[in-house]
Amino acid sequence: MPELPEVETVARDLRPRIVGATIVGARCSWARTLRAHTPEAFAEAVAGRRIESVGRRAKQIVIELSGEAALTVHLKMTGQLFVVAADAPEDPYVRLVLELADGREVRFRDIRKFGKIALYGRDPVNGELTVEVGGAAVFAAIGPEPLDPAFTVRDFRRRLRRRKGRLKPLLLDQSFLAGVGNIYADEALWTARLHPLRTVGTLRPPDERRLFEAVRSILAEAIERRGSSIDDYTAPDGDGSMQERLQVYQRTGEPCPRCDRPVKRVVIGARSTHLCSWCQRLGAADRAGAAAILRGMTGGRRRPGGRWTELVGEGAVGLTPAEAERAARRARAEQTKRAAATRRAAARAAMAGSARP
Ligand SMILES: [Zn+2]
Repeated sequence: MPELPEVETVARDLRPRIVGATIVGARCSWARTLRAHTPEAFAEAVAGRRIESVGRRAKQIVIELSGEAALTVHLKMTGQLFVVAADAPEDPYVRLVLELADGREVRFRDIRKFGKIALYGRDPVNGELTVEVGGAAVFAAIGPEPLDPAFTVRDFRRRLRRRKGRLKPLLLDQSFLAGVGNIYADEALWTARLHPLRTVGTLRPPDERRLFEAVRSILAEAIERRGSSIDDYTAPDGDGSMQERLQVYQRTGEPCPRCDRPVKRVVIGARSTHLCSWCQRLGAADRAGAAAILRGMTGGRRRPGGRWTELVGEGAVGLTPAEAERAARRARAEQTKRAAATRRAAARAAMAGSARP
Protein backbone atom coordinates (compact mmCIF):
# COMPACT_ATOMS: atom_id res chain seq x y z
CA MET A 1 0.00 0.00 0.00
CA PRO A 2 1.34 3.45 -0.87
CA GLU A 3 2.91 5.16 2.14
CA LEU A 4 3.93 8.75 2.77
CA PRO A 5 6.54 9.03 -0.05
CA GLU A 6 4.29 7.46 -2.68
CA VAL A 7 1.28 9.60 -1.76
CA GLU A 8 3.50 12.71 -1.65
CA THR A 9 4.76 11.88 -5.16
CA VAL A 10 1.23 11.55 -6.53
CA ALA A 11 0.28 14.89 -4.93
CA ARG A 12 3.35 16.60 -6.41
CA ASP A 13 2.67 15.16 -9.87
CA LEU A 14 -0.96 16.24 -9.77
CA ARG A 15 -0.32 19.77 -8.50
CA PRO A 16 0.96 21.44 -11.71
CA ARG A 17 -1.67 19.64 -13.75
CA ILE A 18 -4.84 20.55 -11.90
CA VAL A 19 -4.35 23.57 -9.63
CA GLY A 20 -6.45 26.39 -11.06
CA ALA A 21 -8.80 24.03 -12.92
CA THR A 22 -12.53 24.11 -12.24
CA ILE A 23 -14.57 20.96 -11.68
CA VAL A 24 -17.79 20.93 -13.69
CA GLY A 25 -19.07 17.47 -12.84
CA ALA A 26 -18.25 14.01 -11.59
CA ARG A 27 -19.24 10.45 -12.36
CA CYS A 28 -18.75 7.45 -10.19
CA SER A 29 -19.18 3.84 -11.28
CA TRP A 30 -18.44 2.26 -7.87
CA ALA A 31 -20.47 4.01 -5.18
CA ARG A 32 -18.36 2.62 -2.31
CA THR A 33 -15.37 4.63 -3.53
CA LEU A 34 -17.19 7.59 -1.99
CA ARG A 35 -16.96 7.73 1.78
CA ALA A 36 -19.90 9.94 2.58
CA HIS A 37 -21.85 10.89 -0.54
CA THR A 38 -24.00 9.16 -3.12
CA PRO A 39 -22.59 9.60 -6.64
CA GLU A 40 -25.35 12.09 -7.46
CA ALA A 41 -24.88 14.17 -4.30
CA PHE A 42 -21.11 14.13 -4.81
CA ALA A 43 -21.36 15.32 -8.42
CA GLU A 44 -23.63 18.14 -7.35
CA ALA A 45 -21.43 19.13 -4.41
CA VAL A 46 -18.16 19.36 -6.39
CA ALA A 47 -19.51 21.02 -9.54
CA GLY A 48 -18.40 24.63 -9.91
CA ARG A 49 -15.55 24.39 -7.42
CA ARG A 50 -12.04 25.50 -8.36
CA ILE A 51 -9.01 23.40 -7.37
CA GLU A 52 -6.93 25.66 -5.13
CA SER A 53 -4.07 23.39 -4.09
CA VAL A 54 -2.98 19.76 -3.82
CA GLY A 55 -1.30 18.46 -0.69
CA ARG A 56 -1.00 15.41 1.51
CA ARG A 57 -1.79 14.50 5.09
CA ALA A 58 -0.57 11.09 6.34
CA LYS A 59 -1.36 8.63 3.53
CA GLN A 60 -4.08 10.72 1.91
CA ILE A 61 -4.03 13.25 -0.90
CA VAL A 62 -5.85 16.45 0.04
CA ILE A 63 -7.23 18.51 -2.84
CA GLU A 64 -8.32 21.91 -1.56
CA LEU A 65 -11.37 23.35 -3.31
CA SER A 66 -12.95 26.77 -3.41
CA GLY A 67 -15.87 27.27 -1.04
CA GLU A 68 -14.10 25.97 2.09
CA ALA A 69 -14.05 22.32 1.06
CA ALA A 70 -11.51 19.64 0.25
CA LEU A 71 -11.38 16.24 -1.38
CA THR A 72 -9.39 13.51 0.28
CA VAL A 73 -8.14 10.55 -1.75
CA HIS A 74 -6.98 7.40 -0.03
CA LEU A 75 -5.28 5.19 -2.64
CA LYS A 76 -5.26 2.09 -0.41
CA MET A 77 -4.02 -1.05 -2.23
CA THR A 78 -4.34 -0.26 -5.93
CA GLY A 79 -5.61 3.31 -6.35
CA GLN A 80 -4.07 5.41 -9.14
CA LEU A 81 -4.78 8.95 -10.33
CA PHE A 82 -4.37 10.19 -13.87
CA VAL A 83 -5.24 13.43 -15.67
CA VAL A 84 -6.33 12.83 -19.24
CA ALA A 85 -8.29 14.39 -22.09
CA ALA A 86 -12.01 13.69 -21.73
CA ASP A 87 -12.05 11.72 -24.98
CA ALA A 88 -9.23 9.36 -23.87
CA PRO A 89 -10.48 5.76 -23.71
CA GLU A 90 -11.68 4.81 -20.24
CA ASP A 91 -10.91 1.34 -18.91
CA PRO A 92 -13.32 -0.56 -16.62
CA TYR A 93 -11.16 -0.01 -13.51
CA VAL A 94 -11.84 3.73 -13.43
CA ARG A 95 -14.14 4.17 -10.43
CA LEU A 96 -14.51 7.92 -10.23
CA VAL A 97 -13.97 10.81 -12.62
CA LEU A 98 -13.78 14.53 -11.95
CA GLU A 99 -14.72 16.43 -15.11
CA LEU A 100 -12.78 19.66 -15.56
CA ALA A 101 -13.98 22.78 -17.39
CA ASP A 102 -10.94 22.71 -19.71
CA GLY A 103 -11.95 19.40 -21.30
CA ARG A 104 -9.75 17.15 -19.19
CA GLU A 105 -10.62 14.62 -16.51
CA VAL A 106 -9.04 13.45 -13.28
CA ARG A 107 -9.55 9.68 -13.22
CA PHE A 108 -9.32 7.49 -10.17
CA ARG A 109 -8.46 3.97 -11.26
CA ASP A 110 -8.62 1.25 -8.63
CA ILE A 111 -8.50 -2.44 -9.51
CA ARG A 112 -9.18 -3.82 -6.01
CA LYS A 113 -11.76 -1.12 -5.10
CA PHE A 114 -10.46 -0.42 -1.57
CA GLY A 115 -9.67 3.22 -2.35
CA LYS A 116 -11.77 5.98 -0.81
CA ILE A 117 -12.60 9.52 -1.88
CA ALA A 118 -14.43 11.98 0.32
CA LEU A 119 -15.58 15.56 0.17
CA TYR A 120 -15.34 17.46 3.44
CA GLY A 121 -16.06 20.99 4.53
CA ARG A 122 -13.80 23.30 6.50
CA ASP A 123 -15.08 24.21 9.93
CA PRO A 124 -15.51 28.01 9.86
CA VAL A 125 -14.27 28.32 13.44
CA ASN A 126 -11.06 26.26 13.54
CA GLY A 127 -10.40 25.69 9.83
CA GLU A 128 -10.23 21.90 10.30
CA LEU A 129 -11.66 19.53 7.70
CA THR A 130 -14.81 18.05 9.18
CA VAL A 131 -17.66 15.80 8.15
CA GLU A 132 -20.15 18.36 9.43
CA VAL A 133 -19.92 21.82 10.95
CA GLY A 134 -18.86 21.49 14.57
CA GLY A 135 -18.08 17.79 14.05
CA ALA A 136 -14.84 15.93 14.67
CA ALA A 137 -11.86 16.88 12.51
CA VAL A 138 -11.09 14.33 9.80
CA PHE A 139 -7.41 14.03 10.75
CA ALA A 140 -7.88 14.49 14.51
CA ALA A 141 -6.57 11.02 15.36
CA ILE A 142 -3.50 11.21 13.09
CA GLY A 143 -0.05 11.78 14.57
CA PRO A 144 2.50 14.38 13.42
CA GLU A 145 4.10 14.44 9.98
CA PRO A 146 7.59 12.96 10.40
CA LEU A 147 9.10 15.31 7.79
CA ASP A 148 7.56 18.47 9.22
CA PRO A 149 10.57 20.73 9.95
CA ALA A 150 8.93 21.62 13.26
CA PHE A 151 8.92 17.96 14.32
CA THR A 152 12.07 17.43 16.37
CA VAL A 153 13.82 14.54 18.08
CA ARG A 154 12.49 15.94 21.36
CA ASP A 155 8.91 15.68 20.12
CA PHE A 156 9.61 12.15 18.90
CA ARG A 157 11.10 11.18 22.24
CA ARG A 158 8.16 12.62 24.14
CA ARG A 159 5.72 10.65 22.02
CA LEU A 160 7.78 7.45 22.35
CA ARG A 161 7.93 7.69 26.11
CA ARG A 162 4.16 7.92 26.35
CA ARG A 163 3.88 4.58 24.55
CA LYS A 164 4.31 0.94 25.40
CA GLY A 165 4.67 -2.07 23.15
CA ARG A 166 7.00 -3.11 20.36
CA LEU A 167 8.59 -0.89 17.75
CA LYS A 168 7.17 -2.34 14.55
CA PRO A 169 3.47 -2.05 15.47
CA LEU A 170 4.15 1.35 16.98
CA LEU A 171 5.67 2.73 13.77
CA LEU A 172 2.64 1.46 11.84
CA ASP A 173 0.27 3.18 14.27
CA GLN A 174 -0.92 6.31 12.46
CA SER A 175 -1.83 8.01 15.71
CA PHE A 176 1.84 7.79 16.72
CA LEU A 177 3.36 9.01 13.47
CA ALA A 178 1.66 9.82 10.16
CA GLY A 179 2.37 8.07 6.90
CA VAL A 180 4.75 5.25 7.83
CA GLY A 181 3.70 1.81 6.59
CA ASN A 182 5.22 -1.64 6.29
CA ILE A 183 7.99 -0.83 3.80
CA TYR A 184 9.50 2.18 5.53
CA ALA A 185 9.00 0.83 9.05
CA ASP A 186 11.16 -2.20 8.17
CA GLU A 187 13.77 -0.05 6.43
CA ALA A 188 13.95 2.49 9.26
CA LEU A 189 14.35 -0.20 11.92
CA TRP A 190 17.10 -1.90 9.94
CA THR A 191 18.90 1.42 9.40
CA ALA A 192 18.64 2.25 13.10
CA ARG A 193 19.78 -1.31 14.00
CA LEU A 194 16.70 -1.83 16.17
CA HIS A 195 14.83 -5.12 16.33
CA PRO A 196 11.14 -4.77 15.28
CA LEU A 197 10.07 -6.63 18.44
CA ARG A 198 12.06 -4.43 20.77
CA THR A 199 9.84 -2.79 23.37
CA VAL A 200 9.77 1.00 23.58
CA GLY A 201 10.71 0.97 27.26
CA THR A 202 14.15 -0.58 26.56
CA LEU A 203 15.27 2.21 24.21
CA ARG A 204 18.10 4.43 25.36
CA PRO A 205 18.35 8.05 24.18
CA PRO A 206 20.82 7.21 21.36
CA ASP A 207 18.45 4.50 20.11
CA GLU A 208 15.59 6.99 20.04
CA ARG A 209 17.69 9.47 18.10
CA ARG A 210 18.83 6.84 15.57
CA LEU A 211 15.25 5.77 14.97
CA PHE A 212 14.09 9.38 14.53
CA GLU A 213 16.88 10.07 12.05
CA ALA A 214 16.36 6.79 10.19
CA VAL A 215 12.62 7.38 9.72
CA ARG A 216 13.22 10.89 8.42
CA SER A 217 16.13 10.12 6.13
CA ILE A 218 14.44 7.09 4.55
CA LEU A 219 11.18 8.92 3.91
CA ALA A 220 13.08 11.88 2.44
CA GLU A 221 15.13 9.67 0.15
CA ALA A 222 12.00 7.76 -0.91
CA ILE A 223 10.28 11.02 -1.88
CA GLU A 224 13.35 12.03 -3.88
CA ARG A 225 13.12 8.69 -5.71
CA ARG A 226 9.36 9.05 -6.28
CA GLY A 227 8.49 6.20 -3.92
CA SER A 228 8.70 2.43 -4.25
CA SER A 229 6.84 1.03 -7.26
CA ILE A 230 5.87 -2.25 -5.69
CA ASP A 231 2.52 -3.80 -6.59
CA ASP A 232 0.25 -1.28 -8.32
CA TYR A 233 1.77 1.97 -7.16
CA THR A 234 2.53 4.36 -9.97
CA ALA A 235 2.16 8.15 -10.18
CA PRO A 236 0.95 10.49 -12.94
CA ASP A 237 4.56 11.08 -14.05
CA GLY A 238 5.48 7.38 -13.87
CA ASP A 239 6.99 4.82 -11.52
CA GLY A 240 9.32 5.43 -8.60
CA SER A 241 12.73 3.83 -8.08
CA MET A 242 13.01 3.53 -4.31
CA GLN A 243 12.29 -0.22 -4.54
CA GLU A 244 15.85 -0.62 -5.85
CA ARG A 245 17.22 1.00 -2.69
CA LEU A 246 15.31 -1.06 -0.15
CA GLN A 247 17.76 -2.99 2.03
CA VAL A 248 15.56 -5.59 3.73
CA TYR A 249 11.94 -5.14 2.64
CA GLN A 250 10.87 -8.21 0.60
CA ARG A 251 14.50 -9.40 0.50
CA THR A 252 14.05 -12.51 2.63
CA GLY A 253 17.04 -14.82 2.21
CA GLU A 254 19.19 -12.21 0.45
CA PRO A 255 22.36 -11.01 2.18
CA CYS A 256 22.06 -8.16 4.65
CA PRO A 257 23.95 -5.25 3.01
CA ARG A 258 25.74 -4.61 6.32
CA CYS A 259 26.80 -8.05 7.55
CA ASP A 260 26.06 -10.41 4.66
CA ARG A 261 23.87 -12.71 6.73
CA PRO A 262 20.49 -13.58 5.18
CA VAL A 263 17.58 -11.25 5.76
CA LYS A 264 14.83 -12.88 7.83
CA ARG A 265 11.10 -12.58 7.66
CA VAL A 266 8.72 -12.83 10.58
CA VAL A 267 5.02 -12.05 10.85
CA ILE A 268 4.24 -9.41 13.47
CA GLY A 269 0.62 -8.41 13.95
CA ALA A 270 -0.33 -10.04 10.61
CA ARG A 271 2.28 -7.93 8.78
CA SER A 272 5.36 -9.33 7.08
CA THR A 273 8.43 -7.94 8.77
CA HIS A 274 11.94 -8.07 7.33
CA LEU A 275 15.05 -7.79 9.45
CA CYS A 276 18.62 -8.88 10.02
CA SER A 277 18.68 -10.71 13.32
CA TRP A 278 22.44 -10.12 13.56
CA CYS A 279 22.39 -6.33 13.05
CA GLN A 280 19.08 -5.91 14.89
CA ARG A 281 19.63 -7.70 18.18
CA LEU A 282 16.89 -8.36 20.66
CA GLY A 283 17.86 -8.00 24.32
CA ALA A 284 17.21 -10.80 26.82
CA ALA A 285 14.40 -8.80 28.42
CA ASP A 286 12.43 -8.70 25.16
CA ARG A 287 13.38 -12.15 23.91
CA ALA A 288 11.21 -14.13 26.30
CA GLY A 289 8.00 -12.32 25.36
CA ALA A 290 8.86 -12.48 21.65
CA ALA A 291 9.71 -16.19 21.51
CA ALA A 292 6.36 -17.31 20.12
CA ILE A 293 6.51 -14.76 17.30
CA LEU A 294 10.13 -15.51 16.46
CA ARG A 295 9.47 -19.25 16.14
CA GLY A 296 7.75 -18.47 12.84
CA MET A 297 10.79 -16.64 11.47
CA THR A 298 12.06 -17.73 8.05
CA GLY A 299 15.00 -16.75 5.92
CA GLY A 300 17.41 -19.63 6.35
CA ARG A 301 20.98 -19.70 7.51
CA ARG A 302 24.16 -18.56 5.99
CA ARG A 303 25.69 -21.32 3.87
CA PRO A 304 28.49 -22.97 5.78
CA GLY A 305 31.94 -21.80 4.86
CA GLY A 306 31.01 -19.12 2.41
CA ARG A 307 29.09 -16.07 1.36
CA TRP A 308 25.48 -16.31 0.43
CA THR A 309 24.96 -17.32 -3.18
CA GLU A 310 22.09 -16.72 -5.55
CA LEU A 311 19.77 -19.70 -5.79
CA VAL A 312 17.40 -18.79 -8.56
CA GLY A 313 17.05 -20.49 -11.94
CA GLU A 314 19.44 -23.08 -13.23
CA GLY A 315 21.55 -22.96 -10.10
CA ALA A 316 18.68 -24.61 -8.26
CA VAL A 317 19.86 -28.15 -8.94
CA GLY A 318 20.91 -30.46 -6.14
CA LEU A 319 19.74 -28.12 -3.40
CA THR A 320 18.87 -29.01 0.14
CA PRO A 321 15.11 -28.74 0.85
CA ALA A 322 15.65 -25.43 2.63
CA GLU A 323 17.60 -24.03 -0.32
CA ALA A 324 15.01 -25.28 -2.79
CA GLU A 325 12.26 -23.64 -0.77
CA ARG A 326 14.20 -20.40 -0.76
CA ALA A 327 14.76 -20.59 -4.50
CA ALA A 328 11.06 -21.22 -5.06
CA ARG A 329 10.18 -18.25 -2.88
CA ARG A 330 12.57 -16.03 -4.84
CA ALA A 331 11.07 -17.22 -8.11
CA ARG A 332 7.54 -16.51 -6.86
CA ALA A 333 8.58 -13.06 -5.69
CA GLU A 334 10.14 -12.33 -9.11
CA GLN A 335 6.95 -13.44 -10.81
CA THR A 336 4.82 -11.20 -8.58
CA LYS A 337 7.14 -8.29 -9.28
CA ARG A 338 6.96 -8.81 -13.04
CA ALA A 339 3.17 -9.11 -12.94
CA ALA A 340 2.92 -5.84 -11.00
CA ALA A 341 5.22 -4.05 -13.45
CA THR A 342 3.04 -5.29 -16.32
CA ARG A 343 -0.10 -4.01 -14.55
CA ARG A 344 1.48 -0.58 -13.99
CA ALA A 345 2.56 -0.36 -17.63
CA ALA A 346 -0.96 -1.33 -18.71
CA ALA A 347 -2.43 1.35 -16.45
CA ARG A 348 -0.18 4.00 -17.97
CA ALA A 349 -0.95 2.80 -21.49
CA ALA A 350 -4.67 2.92 -20.74
CA MET A 351 -4.22 6.52 -19.67
CA ALA A 352 -2.03 7.49 -22.63
CA GLY A 353 -2.65 11.06 -23.59
CA SER A 354 -2.23 12.14 -19.97
CA ALA A 355 -1.04 15.69 -20.53
CA ARG A 356 -0.36 18.95 -18.79
CA PRO A 357 -2.78 21.77 -19.58
ZN1 LIG B 1 22.99 -7.57 9.09
